[in-house]
Amino acid sequence: MIYKNKKLQNIFKDTQKEEKEKQADSRRSFFKKAGGLTLGGLSLAGLAKASVSEQVAYASQNVNRYSAPSELKITDLRIAEIGGDVVFRTPIVRIYTNQGIIGHGDVRDGAAKEYALFLKSRLLGENPCNVERLFGIIKQFGGHARQGGGVSGVEMALWDIVGKAYNVPVYQLLGGKYRDKVRVYCDTTISRDPNEYAARMQARIDQGYTALKMDIGIRLLEGIPGTVINSPDAKYNPYQYDYSTYNKTMHPFTRVQVTDKGIDKLMEFLDVMRSKIGYDIPMGTDHWGHFGINEAIKLARASEKYNLAYIEDIIPWQLTDQLRELTQSTTTPIQTGEDIYMLQGGFEKLIETRSVDIVHPDPNTAGGILETKKIGDFATRHGIGFMQHHAAGPVSFLGAVHAAAATENFMWLEHHAVDKKDWENLVTGFDGPIVKDGYVTVPEKPGIGVELNEDMVKKYLIEGEKFFAPTPEWDKIRANDRLWS
Ligand SMILES: [Mg+2]
Repeated sequence: MIYKNKKLQNIFKDTQKEEKEKQADSRRSFFKKAGGLTLGGLSLAGLAKASVSEQVAYASQNVNRYSAPSELKITDLRIAEIGGDVVFRTPIVRIYTNQGIIGHGDVRDGAAKEYALFLKSRLLGENPCNVERLFGIIKQFGGHARQGGGVSGVEMALWDIVGKAYNVPVYQLLGGKYRDKVRVYCDTTISRDPNEYAARMQARIDQGYTALKMDIGIRLLEGIPGTVINSPDAKYNPYQYDYSTYNKTMHPFTRVQVTDKGIDKLMEFLDVMRSKIGYDIPMGTDHWGHFGINEAIKLARASEKYNLAYIEDIIPWQLTDQLRELTQSTTTPIQTGEDIYMLQGGFEKLIETRSVDIVHPDPNTAGGILETKKIGDFATRHGIGFMQHHAAGPVSFLGAVHAAAATENFMWLEHHAVDKKDWENLVTGFDGPIVKDGYVTVPEKPGIGVELNEDMVKKYLIEGEKFFAPTPEWDKIRANDRLWS
């Protein structure tokens, strides 16, 4: 500032001098307190000449503040799609910010990368720390099963960024944890020989798993006469004049029936299994086949003496009333949920009407980490069990671990890649094996707690796919998103 009046000029100079001396004094006293240490690569002599922002950085270097979260902005969203002998086909989503922090999530296995790419136009320029608000903006572009993959993958990547920005693990942002290790359950490969099948399950126990699942269903009866009526494998093809197939026909409409002989054959698998592995370990079942509620009731009742942990998806989740009838008809626990998008999308009704004993959301479909916790909390309030389905990469598996750690009555999280040797190598930063003795230690590092092993991701890129290539074509999509008028 220039003063025309000499007197005022002198006063201004004196004020400036005083101010400089005060600052020098305060720096000297600060250096004294710092004890002459050289910290953060800056010597004290060097610090005296440093800019104000460097001095602030110096003074606050032991404060857990990774960035300036209120200034964070989303700048980009890109995809690397992997598959092959490491994981079911999974697009990995990466969100970039203006402060160099990036976050990762998985679009659900088998889903399209475009489900996430579409959301880029709704996220650019937004602060990623407002996770719930952003979820509110994008949730209308998700749906059940694979269609939930884009919204869920983005939600996980946002939490990863928030955790890194505030320097805390994601579970901490959800209210803290109920456990230090999360219990995992695993599936196994199917065999038509009950003894061989039991041996494979025993191998899982020997690997340290404490909860199991087996696929048992009418496929195991293929070629055995007198076991299945209207079998999809019958010599005459019940679908020969239809535009659909058995696989694409919803359960009540196949009119498949399982005979007493068929039920006995299936129970033989459970009998051999239990006689080999005993009754101390929980064992669930999945993939029974497509048939109506009467067959489901017969099979659930026949299974009662084998004390299954649950029967999964034996009736499509949409048929709430039929699931309720089944649940009330048997003491075998009934479970569903891996294809439901959001608490309000189906879980609420299933839980409130007590139509199942256990819910089984997949965080990559359900809406991500926070929505999965909300489902778990709602189940808890109604006395319904809560476990998690998972079949994608290790990033979202660990995202699921954070949701599991932060939910009071969590049971088990599915590990679908036990036999994939490079699956754990897709990420770095986890100390030791991710799954050990059937448990995952909850990560304590900021965000989800791992980074991608880029060489490994490149190795398993789907042919023709690029490694997080720019996506400017998704920057702008014009539409009025308001859902009411
Ligand atoms: Mg399943």
